[in-house]
Amino acid sequence: MPDLPPLREVVARHGLSASKALGQNFLFDEQLLDRIAAIPGDLAGTRVLEIGPGPGGLTRGLLRAGADVTAIEMDRRCLPALGELEGAFPGRLRVIEGDALTLDHDSLMGGPYAVVANLPYNVGTALLVRWLGGQEWPPRWTSLTLMFQQEVAQRIVAEPGSDAYGRLAVLAQWRAVPRIALKVHRSAFTPPPKVMSAIVHIVPRAMPPGVNARTLGRVTEAAFGQRRKMLRQSLKGVPGALDALASLGIDPQRRAETLSVEDFVAIARELG
Ligand code: SAM
Repeated sequence: MPDLPPLREVVARHGLSASKALGQNFLFDEQLLDRIAAIPGDLAGTRVLEIGPGPGGLTRGLLRAGADVTAIEMDRRCLPALGELEGAFPGRLRVIEGDALTLDHDSLMGGPYAVVANLPYNVGTALLVRWLGGQEWPPRWTSLTLMFQQEVAQRIVAEPGSDAYGRLAVLAQWRAVPRIALKVHRSAFTPPPKVMSAIVHIVPRAMPPGVNARTLGRVTEAAFGQRRKMLRQSLKGVPGALDALASLGIDPQRRAETLSVEDFVAIARELG
């Protein structure tokens, strides 16, 4: 393994003060970074897409785990530090300057790839919705290992009946399996954010047959858009939805949060 300078020293030498506007909270604990890089499983020889490498802490962990990394970073200030890492792991790291929200990840990566990222909350959620909502299933990505604030992580893995259960849970669970892999204390970051974080690991599974992802999205959007209301009210605007409830034997007086993921899938299937 190449002998790398401490991350704090790299950050100081390149003047990488954390930018609030870019949602920058850096991780410097190399043991923690190696633990995060181990979450997707054995990465030896695996292509990994890392979004938002910043000064490259998690990138180091991924490279030490044997991954071939493509990293997308939009803060140009970080590029020299990442360039040093490219030099330390020749041929194993490709850095792309750009906005991950506008780049086409599949064509960038070619074959199958694992995604690993510690991103600002808004960017992470937008990308998650895009990765989970794709038309192509199984997707080209083989797993997602993503840092979120703990409250969002709980929404992703939430079960029916809980306050956290909503659109994000249905989206993440109807054709994928999410789990909270690691809780990360706020003090692990520089600067520390206000809230606790958690890493979610998501793997795709077979898509239930006869379900249109867009229809399912419309049903959950309507149902949880008015989550305190009964389904007969919240689903009124979705053509055919009330008939679907009747033929499935789902009581229209129930509220969205009492329906299982399978119930939502069945409603979407009825709607065709
Ligand atoms: N991965 C590093 C770590 O764990 O220490 C940095 C984490 S920091 C929370 C998030 C990083 O994502 C920052 O370096 C920021 O510049 C970058 N970033 C934010 N939005 C981005 C976007 N849309 N595309 C690519 N990178 C982005």
